[in-house]
Amino acid sequence: MRYHALMSRRIVIFDTTLRDGEQSPGASMNTEEKLIIARQLLRLGVDVIEAGFPASSPGDFESVRAVAAEVGDKAVVCALARAIPADIEKAAEALVGAQRPRLHTGIGVSAIHLRGKLHINSEQAIERAVSAVKRARTFTDDVQFYAEDAGRSDPDLLARMFAAVIAAGATTLCAPDTTGFSLPADYGALITYVREHTPGIENVVLAAHCHNDLGMATASTIAGIAAGVGQVECTINGLGERAGNAALEEVVMALRLHGAELDVTTSIETTELTRASRLVSQITGIKVQPNKAVVGANAFVHASGIHQDGVLKKRTTYEILDPVEVGLNPDAIVLSARSGHAALRARLETLGLAPNEADEKGFDQIYERFLTLADRKKEVYDEDLEALMAEYDRTQNALWALATLQVSCGVPLIATATVVLTDQGGSERLASATGTGPIDAAYKAVDAILQVDCDLKEYVVQAITRGIDALGEVTVRVEAPDGRIFTGRGADGDIIVSSTKAYLNALNRMLCAG
Ligand code: MN
Repeated sequence: MRYHALMSRRIVIFDTTLRDGEQSPGASMNTEEKLIIARQLLRLGVDVIEAGFPASSPGDFESVRAVAAEVGDKAVVCALARAIPADIEKAAEALVGAQRPRLHTGIGVSAIHLRGKLHINSEQAIERAVSAVKRARTFTDDVQFYAEDAGRSDPDLLARMFAAVIAAGATTLCAPDTTGFSLPADYGALITYVREHTPGIENVVLAAHCHNDLGMATASTIAGIAAGVGQVECTINGLGERAGNAALEEVVMALRLHGAELDVTTSIETTELTRASRLVSQITGIKVQPNKAVVGANAFVHASGIHQDGVLKKRTTYEILDPVEVGLNPDAIVLSARSGHAALRARLETLGLAPNEADEKGFDQIYERFLTLADRKKEVYDEDLEALMAEYDRTQNALWALATLQVSCGVPLIATATVVLTDQGGSERLASATGTGPIDAAYKAVDAILQVDCDLKEYVVQAITRGIDALGEVTVRVEAPDGRIFTGRGADGDIIVSSTKAYLNALNRMLCAG
């Protein structure tokens, strides 16, 4: 490894979990969920948060507005718009409250996109690009331009389009490998070509945005950095359209390890990576594969005897990254039923999860829930506390709460569930139902009480920690008759209980939305 005494280039980390990441099938998030993720992105120290595509839906518009208000001056907040006046105006309107607004507009540049999708020639594309950037500049001085499908474009046309939008006022230029087509070396060569053939490129920031269709998103992004890009676009857990985007945690840790050779640094607080990954997985219901780089459950687990022996003698024999650096704390305090109020509060404060000081009654309820969990589970880890607090937040002010759930099932029994729900006034309603299994029976009993019409579209269960006593967390998606999707979550040691809580959470949200 070579070390440079001179100042390294600081790479701008542009997170698009809330925009491209949300385009992952089944990952749609509501405003409140996007705000929770935005807060974690701030803890991570990302430079730019792409908060959404305001013209795509009223919900996205509202989310961009809410994220802009939440972020303040702590990061740039970016909104996406196609090179269409109405899109740009919607994006600008959503960014009105942003202290550091960025408008992100663009148009296709590859022959396939121009002919097959836009039905225009390259000169018309450049004209539209220029007028979109000029329009965006009337709203903010920070305008990013993307040339869609740059990875499959004619480099000369790309350079001409970039030169034209620089002259029109774009300040960041992105050359996305929208389809994940490029080999890393070719992507790097494209960036080099653009840097050498675009008049004015030295006055703007060039950005990489790579998709993972061939599993090369991180590699191409790093190749882009080696070739001189100043900004990289990525998502937590590599979420995104189709096979996803470059994973933020992978790019950041690759730069942590190889930054000296590349002469670059980032502003990311890497110890927040694990928490960010868990949070995004929990909110979207998209599980992280165990062998995923950096944040997978097995990323630091050594199974072979030879490796275990090596790691015990010297950790670095088989570990290139330090788990502590990504936020995994091997010496973390484990709470138990013997832990008192003070210990629980101190741990929640460390995790940034403690309730408002004034909310003493709330804290008593949290402690009660903690004791119930600790009795069942013996050792309560940070992940369990995160799930417990998320469950507490979900059940505060819920229209309906689960009071009783009783099921009988097995072979050859007919699965039967009895459910009691209480409303906010405390009055109870009871129903029983049979089903193909205990969860189906419980859901039918809930349906019988609430009398709502909806379709269960997705059901995912995941264990929060290892072991037979681990909390099971369930995510469901239900579709209302008007096509709107509502996500619900529930966590409990009993997965039939967590399943029922998750379903009830989704229906509560549907009923609140009216
Ligand atoms: Mn993309």
